[in-house]
Amino acid sequence: MAGIYIHVPFCSQFCTYCDFYSVKDTGKREAFTEAVIREAEFRKNYFKESGCRVKTIYFGGGTPSLLSPASFRAITESLFRLFNITDPSEIEEFTVEVNPDDATPEYLAALRSAGARRLSMGVQSFTDAHLKWMNRRHDSATALNAFRAAREARFENISIDLIFGFADLTNEDWRNTLKKAVELSPEHISSYQLGIEPGTKLGRDYETGAYTPLPDDKSYTQYSLLQEVLSGAGYVQYEVSSFARPGREAKHNSSYWNHTPYLGLGPSAHSFNGSVRHFNPPSLAKYLKQTDWDSFAKNEKLSDRDLFNETVMLSLRRKEGLDKELLLSRYPEQLTSPFFSDAEMLMALGELEESGGKIRIPSGKLFISDGIIRELFQ
Ligand code: SF4
Repeated sequence: MAGIYIHVPFCSQFCTYCDFYSVKDTGKREAFTEAVIREAEFRKNYFKESGCRVKTIYFGGGTPSLLSPASFRAITESLFRLFNITDPSEIEEFTVEVNPDDATPEYLAALRSAGARRLSMGVQSFTDAHLKWMNRRHDSATALNAFRAAREARFENISIDLIFGFADLTNEDWRNTLKKAVELSPEHISSYQLGIEPGTKLGRDYETGAYTPLPDDKSYTQYSLLQEVLSGAGYVQYEVSSFARPGREAKHNSSYWNHTPYLGLGPSAHSFNGSVRHFNPPSLAKYLKQTDWDSFAKNEKLSDRDLFNETVMLSLRRKEGLDKELLLSRYPEQLTSPFFSDAEMLMALGELEESGGKIRIPSGKLFISDGIIRELFQ
């Protein structure tokens, strides 16, 4: 199994907290479409060595829903042609990220007819004042209408994103957002604690003292509320930030976690062919001029230690946990490293648990998973 990710680097306005690569100049959308097709052409044998077939496609960004239906169709048709996807049913998951204010019935119908079957909607909150503070383009009524329009357009697999853990969010607000989310009954919910990234408006406000983060204990309460409300509504938490109806876990993201090959197209996209990784620099201007994609892409050199640490991190973020036998078959030298004694110590503290040959972070400790995982890095 392999996946293709297309990074669409356009946003009409920038959200307060976001550090994903994107530009406001949407006048370059057609040129971008042509460049993505050129890059896909160049990479058409990317999965040949691993023998993997493309099973997931994911348009992310930026804001993929700023692409015209014609661009979206042109890229999709090229991917099918270049990667020998003869039957659309070969694609097990085809996701497009959409902003609620782009999700008109006409646009959604066009996405569906071009092959998309799953939507990831950036809802973030159902409180208008918070959406305004985040500098989102939509309000809560627009998000509700967009979700209903997506159902009417026969999207039967929808994920929504929600944000918690910011200064103005009270537990009551958060409970209200969760209640509205659950009432919509999406198949999947991703929820993130607001991070403060350098170079964003929020980062600058934090540096000048204009923004004071919510204390960790309050964020923890909101995370626990998230787990409680979603589990009460029948969602299964399968990763630190991901909840799904049974059988609706995201396949594309899971392939990142499982180390299966993926090809990223577009500026700032990362790729992994099973042995070597590379990434495209985050520059639309340079991307549009490219013809020699090999010299444009930068190789990511990861040492064995980096790869080990990454495996530990990606596995422990998931409820499935870290398979000890698999870990040792990949990294036999770790048998004599302090990893297992560190893990034993964390088990004694209740920060890890083990069953069936797998090490996991208990549900109640997932909020502090980053700290626990760091303790295990070699
Ligand atoms: S959160 Fe999405 S819409 Fe907002 S700036 Fe980032 S990529 Fe653009």
